[in-house]
Amino acid sequence: PDHTPERILERLTQEGVKFLRLQFTDILGTVKNIEVAQSQFPKALRGDVMFDGSAIEGFTRIEESDMLLRPDLSTFLVYPQFSREEGERGKVARLICDVYLPDGTPFEGDPRRVLRRQIDRAAALGLSLHCGPEPEFFLFERAASGHGTTTTNDHAGYFDLAPIDRGERIRREITNKLVEMGFEIEGAHHEVAPGQHEIDFGYAPALQTADAISTFKFVVKRVALEYGLLASFLPKPASGVSGSGMHCHLSLFRDGHNAFADPEGEYGLSRLALNFIAGLLEHAPGMVAVTNPLVNSYKRLVPGYEAPVNVAWSTSNRSALIRIPAKRGNSTRAEFRMPDPSCNPYLALALMLAAGLDGIEQGLEPPPAIQRNIFKMTVREKRHHKIRELPGNLSEAVDALERDETLVAALGEHLHDRYSEAKRQEWAEYSATVHPWELHRYLDLI
Ligand code: GLU
Ligand code: MG
Ligand code: MG
Repeated sequence: PDHTPERILERLTQEGVKFLRLQFTDILGTVKNIEVAQSQFPKALRGDVMFDGSAIEGFTRIEESDMLLRPDLSTFLVYPQFSREEGERGKVARLICDVYLPDGTPFEGDPRRVLRRQIDRAAALGLSLHCGPEPEFFLFERAASGHGTTTTNDHAGYFDLAPIDRGERIRREITNKLVEMGFEIEGAHHEVAPGQHEIDFGYAPALQTADAISTFKFVVKRVALEYGLLASFLPKPASGVSGSGMHCHLSLFRDGHNAFADPEGEYGLSRLALNFIAGLLEHAPGMVAVTNPLVNSYKRLVPGYEAPVNVAWSTSNRSALIRIPAKRGNSTRAEFRMPDPSCNPYLALALMLAAGLDGIEQGLEPPPAIQRNIFKMTVREKRHHKIRELPGNLSEAVDALERDETLVAALGEHLHDRYSEAKRQEWAEYSATVHPWELHRYLDLI
């Protein structure tokens, strides 16, 4: 009842909202928006706002460039004031939209639709995916010019307190803003690397989580700006220290109950959970091009920094790709440690779900859980346990995605082709660039 156009129009008027943002996400995960003024609110709520999709990266073929934005009314929220100056210009609200073609059919290249398709597949089995994400990020100083630097704003480490931790005030400010926007924040802390932080929010159904991740990143960056800092979700902004991951705590629910829990089952996990885990492991190499989409993402996925390299699962060890936290009952879940916060959250969650559902449909069995530190195993030991490695760079990752028919089908041909093309281009550009490391290593020597 709160999510009818009439009710939302009423709230927009009551709250004196001046600008309404219609948001959507392009294939690479960049949030885009069209902002409409008061006179256009009714039209926007009817889903009649058009935009030219040809301007958006990877979005459309030139001949079908007109797109319609149909707001998902359940995503309505009024933004808190981030600065006084902004406040003076008038309140801003937002709606996240699904993208349609002018003839009213859903647009194949819309990442939100890709996720909805997998959610519907799960629903047909009576299941819904829940996800609790743990996005990590760095706070960096800005130069006098306003540009970001890679100088961190503190030298603190894991769980440190102020005054060594200089992120406390800003994490609290981010938390306050998010709470005002209806987020349930579970906790916030300094992470392992200097200037690195984590803020965890409560788990929710997959689509809400994907929306929440984009909103979260926007708020973190926006608040950091107010403090004169740069917040970056780049997976590995500095060599030699931990990178930033976005662990996803995944569970399936059926009729409001956690379907991963089974006190009688091995490890206290249900058959369904084991099949789902097996599916995630089976498709992890193909999925990494989406969950870890940047050239830079693969510099995080190296041994020694609590980021996964090996395709294995564990009920205890953080060196594995999937860890099963100790909690059981309704909190039973698999912590998928591979994704990083630069991913398109809609596509990443769609592929996690597609992989898990494939495990369920095929009745896949996971290999035995590995309880040892895999980083300390020899190559022979890993071979003995049949532990595969993840693709080592973006190029190998795109190859692996193209070979995985289940995942290509989940993305849909339109989106997959454009995604792979964009990523191959990114790799080609990187490969043709001479990097400082090469000069440092070779210039004098050769
Ligand atoms: N920063 C680590 C990563 O890259 C994760 C650390 C943790 O366990 O929170 O995934
Ligand atoms: Mg962490
Ligand atoms: Mg974690």
